[in-house]
Amino acid sequence: MDLGLDGKVAIVTGGAKGIGAAIVRAATAEGMTVAIVDRDEAVSQAFAAQLRAAGHTVHVVIASLETAAACAAAVAEVVARCGRIDALINNAGVNDGVGLASGSPAEFAASLDRNLSHYFAMAHYALPALTEWRGNIVNIASKVAVTGQGGTSGYAAAKGAIMALTREWAVELLPVGIRVNAVIPAEVMTPLYEQWLATHADPAGKLQDIVSKIPLGHRMTTADEIAAAVLFLLSSKSGHTTGQQLHVDGGYVHLDRAIR
Ligand code: NAP
Repeated sequence: MDLGLDGKVAIVTGGAKGIGAAIVRAATAEGMTVAIVDRDEAVSQAFAAQLRAAGHTVHVVIASLETAAACAAAVAEVVARCGRIDALINNAGVNDGVGLASGSPAEFAASLDRNLSHYFAMAHYALPALTEWRGNIVNIASKVAVTGQGGTSGYAAAKGAIMALTREWAVELLPVGIRVNAVIPAEVMTPLYEQWLATHADPAGKLQDIVSKIPLGHRMTTADEIAAAVLFLLSSKSGHTTGQQLHVDGGYVHLDRAIR
């Protein structure tokens, strides 16, 4: 299926690894020019070199997105280099374990800066270009927003707010035709997920326990499966889809627990 994305420009925050990297690969495979906005310079540059060697057009913007100024500068750099923005994929985030009992109010606020504020700032600063080019936005949330996890108030609050902002922006941007949707992963093997598994006494046992509860196929969702959903939402094939929260999780969040 031709998604009609050839030649369009996408920003992928956190595009160096994991889900973001899968989105970058899928977007370049559709002929998009992609700006990887990530703080990991070595991995971003190596990944971009690999993609360029395969004939794709990729830019790297090194930024740590916790401040509005960093987001403004990143967007300005993409516009300067690419001349347009057709898609913003807000993806960077970290499940940082700031709990109600274990964390302080200051740590909670810092977690929101790591996980939420840059979604707003990136969309805010990209809005003029997105409006000019009639682009759209996909926000990566998390099942933690819906199910809770325990011990991670900042991350849960951020991901819940991201789902709310997806609806809010979908409404606000109706007049300019910018669609806004969210993709909600649950269990995807990425560097971040591997780090989290490693915090358990028996990582292999913990993983087995988790996959046994994933209804469809008793397996993890692949990052490529998340990316495919994102690309569909970016494309004109989903031209009448906005404000949606798409769970790509093998039925983990919604299907009847009795069938597991
Ligand atoms: P990942 O493997 O850690 O990759 C994320 C990339 O983004 C890393 O390169 C990371 O750099 C970078 N990054 C993170 N915060 C950043 C910031 N503030 N500024 C610049 N770069 C930043 O993570 P992932 O598992 O692919 O997760 C991607 C998104 O999916 C996140 O929003 C996460 O909450 C969401 N998600 C993931 C899962 C899952 O099962 N993996 C489930 C639900 C939701 P560093 O390596 O330096 O941190």
